[in-house]
Amino acid sequence: MVYLNGNFIAKNKASIPVMDRGFLFGDGVYEVIPVYQGKIFRLSAHLKRLQKSLDSVKIPNPHIENEWLAIFNQLLTYAETGNQSLYLQITRGVDICRKHSFDVLTPTVYIEANPLIPKTKQMLEQGFSAITQSDIRWSRCDIKATSLLANTLYAQTAKEHQVEEVILHRETIITEGATSNVFMLKNGTLHTHPTGVNILSGITRDLALESAQACDLTIEESSFNINALINADEVWISSSTREIMPITQINGQTVNDGKVGQYWACVYTHYQRLKND
Ligand code: PLP
Repeated sequence: MVYLNGNFIAKNKASIPVMDRGFLFGDGVYEVIPVYQGKIFRLSAHLKRLQKSLDSVKIPNPHIENEWLAIFNQLLTYAETGNQSLYLQITRGVDICRKHSFDVLTPTVYIEANPLIPKTKQMLEQGFSAITQSDIRWSRCDIKATSLLANTLYAQTAKEHQVEEVILHRETIITEGATSNVFMLKNGTLHTHPTGVNILSGITRDLALESAQACDLTIEESSFNINALINADEVWISSSTREIMPITQINGQTVNDGKVGQYWACVYTHYQRLKND
């Protein structure tokens, strides 16, 4: 079952008109929200970011928080038991003809729930590989926009290179991953790119920083370059579905001799606690 514009229907029965601006232009925004043991994780933070994305592209928010919660909970009653990830997409709506400019339309709302199976600690302890590539995205990466052409190309590149993530850089400065935020640990200080237009301010990023603080790390939200990344003591990426994941190989070179670091183990433990709060 999925949710589409007020109705709960079978996924193969859900369809949108071709004049939907989400289809024509990728004119919409989205959120991905984890659900652990039936509890929606960090709902307010996700809805706050959704509001920010909607405001940035001038799409009215069709629901207040309690309405969103009621829709999510209803949808989750149709889902299998176990952890879930909610995918919520709001497009500007259906236009009369295809034109770039827009009038006020009724937004299209689509939500689906999918099983969320985070990697086990044992799997994470093996470490993951990444490659770096130039960041070709636009200058409003803070908006969680559905227009993800660059990101799909990066995902395909990652697949072709059999790596977990493509880590992006503008000039030599590391911004974030194609679908994650990036952290670099050196001499007890954790560095991550500051929030702003060049990265998506990840909900997990905030939680990773909170976890890092609990593990007595000094935090610097400041930019760092590719060289620093490759010579780091530890590198992690974070996202709602991956949680906090250790990267032990970048561009074929090992980080920390290819071993998962002790601070990652500490933040992992803290993050698991936050999930169960
Ligand atoms: N940065 C980008 C480009 C992303 O696509 C994502 C998640 O999909 C993130 C960062 C991490 O955001 P969050 O932790 O809210 O999932």
